[in-house]
Amino acid sequence: MTVTPPGATIGIVGGGQLGRMLAVAAAQLGYRTHVFAPEESGPASDVASTWTRGAYDDQTALQAFAAAVDIVTYEFENVPGATADLLAASGHVRPSGRALAIAQDRLLEKGFVAELGGTTAPYAPVSTRDELDRAVAEVGAPAILKTARFGYDGKGQSRIMRADSAALDAAWADIGGQPAVLEGFVRFEHEFSLILVRGQAGEIRFWDAPLNVHEAGILATSTVPANDAVLAQAEAARAIAAQVAEALDYVGVLTLEFFCGEAGPIFNEMAPRVHNSGHWTIEGAVTSQFENHIRAICGLPLGSTARTAPGVVMENLIGEAASNWSGILADDRAHLHLYGKHEARPGRKMGHVTRLTGQ
Ligand code: AMP
Repeated sequence: MTVTPPGATIGIVGGGQLGRMLAVAAAQLGYRTHVFAPEESGPASDVASTWTRGAYDDQTALQAFAAAVDIVTYEFENVPGATADLLAASGHVRPSGRALAIAQDRLLEKGFVAELGGTTAPYAPVSTRDELDRAVAEVGAPAILKTARFGYDGKGQSRIMRADSAALDAAWADIGGQPAVLEGFVRFEHEFSLILVRGQAGEIRFWDAPLNVHEAGILATSTVPANDAVLAQAEAARAIAAQVAEALDYVGVLTLEFFCGEAGPIFNEMAPRVHNSGHWTIEGAVTSQFENHIRAICGLPLGSTARTAPGVVMENLIGEAASNWSGILADDRAHLHLYGKHEARPGRKMGHVTRLTGQ
């Protein structure tokens, strides 16, 4: 157990809204934060104590960053493996580079979870256009072709409705001919996630599993408690999530996403970090995902993950939706979070609003 006491400086790799909310939680507990990100500024720069602009392969800048902080964590996991290795060599990094390496690669993460006994959609690796033919013969259609790495919010994905060669050519071109995984299309009614925090001594706490609704591949809402279909599968999903966290000797907040399958939960993907589907925990739980992540990596006691209200709904504010801030603030139940982004592009997460219900 290594305690990094309040007053220390936490290094955060990545400077988006997750970094912003982590920095706010860290500040509440008396920590300073130092962000490392390639952009000139970002949502986290308004609230972090220090911001280093550097490329993720700039070894000199990374070394200086690691030397300037007491502990390093991530809000963005798609950093090159060499970056994670360099930071790990410099001292305390949580979660570990292994968790990052697995979560970065859809093939690795599916194989890892399947080996622990979790269920995934049928899948096959695709590294060439020819291999796509073989993968479709194995997995069938409809299917989804996803880049193995660097996909997020439905990006780097192409749906294959028919297995004819024109459709396969189009899908392969669509994802830019990169190494990929072909996944059988899962017919599911509901999606949910599990967010857990694991402390340095191995204690695991789960928040309630939110029911997640996506629109155009982007999370639209997270609701707790979830519906009966999700609640019936949450226990089995928690069991596999706990195994994943233990197998990785994970420290911090870990998120796993699932589909509600006919025979039980089907694992989709995991994120070795705080997650959009956990934003409801800021007001809807006694301790938020951001605060518990800081507590876990710093070796402090974990906080309660109990709900603070009978019901909680988190709605993402995407694109122009955030311009209605005055209407949202007129609602007494609404907790508005804006990320300070200057340009409201379509599909861009500009903020979120959480409503506590049933009080
Ligand atoms: P992902 O980036 O893997 O989270 O995918 C984004 C969204 O696409 C998911 O939240 C689902 O709504 C949908 N999706 C992804 N994979 C599948 C699948 N194998 N079958 C059906 N829908 C999927």
